[in-house]
Amino acid sequence: MAIVPQSDSRAPLVADIIATLSAAAKMSRALQQGVERLRVALKDDRSPVTVADLAVQGLVAARLASSEVPIVGEERADLLRRAEASALTDAVVDAVSGPGGLPIARAELLEAIDSACHDGSAERYWTLDPIDGTKGFLRGQHYAIALALIEGGEVTLGALCCPNLGVDPNVVDSAGTLYVALAGAGAWQLPGGDVERAVRIKARSIASGDALQVCESVESAHSKHADAARIVAHVPFVAGEPVRMDSQCKYALVARGDAHAYLRLPTRADYREKIWDHAAGLIVAREADAVVTDVHGKALDFRHGRTLEQNRGVICASRGAHQPLVDACQQLGIG
Ligand code: AMP
Ligand code: MG
Repeated sequence: MAIVPQSDSRAPLVADIIATLSAAAKMSRALQQGVERLRVALKDDRSPVTVADLAVQGLVAARLASSEVPIVGEERADLLRRAEASALTDAVVDAVSGPGGLPIARAELLEAIDSACHDGSAERYWTLDPIDGTKGFLRGQHYAIALALIEGGEVTLGALCCPNLGVDPNVVDSAGTLYVALAGAGAWQLPGGDVERAVRIKARSIASGDALQVCESVESAHSKHADAARIVAHVPFVAGEPVRMDSQCKYALVARGDAHAYLRLPTRADYREKIWDHAAGLIVAREADAVVTDVHGKALDFRHGRTLEQNRGVICASRGAHQPLVDACQQLGIG
């Protein structure tokens, strides 16, 4: 089934985005296979950045350059311009020029990475997380390549590539799955990124007394596991064991009905969620009829630059589960 009819003005853009993310996934898979040899550096905030993060940002930015829409990407090339980083830069250039990539000169690639560093103040912009869940990527587990289009503060298109996610979320399946969602046109699952096998997905409903399946980050520094356990014990459902998974793949689990909810519960009062960690996942879940808000039940607000300045945490859940989860946060003083 076609995601959008050929007569829809968005059809060429959707085809282009699918091709771009498929190329990026091919490259990231090749890099993850050699993960033990992969060059890793630390950013100023001490979080890891790998050749894959920089190469995917460079590849996607170079391929989207002709759209002339600014890109708010997670990475910057300043690290690569330091003299001591020349081996890292060589590895990034090699990766982008390799399987699925583009022939590109070093200077042009650094420029492409930096060009994707917009501040998010434009009326219309892309946001890109080249490797979401870098820690999962480094552990050989789940990660995502997440791209979304934001227009007038609304997410209107999302593509979420989950290169290791197959039917069973507990195993790494290198065929992977691509999710594509367009405002008003539904959320679609493309096994192996194959558009011919695209199926529309829907979140799973829940009734009181049912077992509630939630998912959360592997990293307890990114979401407070103890608060998730308190919430699950508080709501009028039977408590199921949480599934822990890195990256926005968690939004896909809710969108396709494997989980009723994705809980992201603040660990620090001063942390602000980044737009690239949520935009693509949000529209995939929302177009599958799930509800996405922060822990206070407020819509995620993409009008404040690179962060979700006005929001705290995230609750993404199927319709029957969402309000009881927000109520539980309020009653338990979470957020
Ligand atoms: P996940 O794989 O769901 O744990 O999310 C990975 C993302 O968590 C990274 O892309 C970071 O941007 C983000 N992150 C880093 N520190 C925090 C934090 N203290 N709270 C929430 N998210 C964070
Ligand atoms: Mg991320």
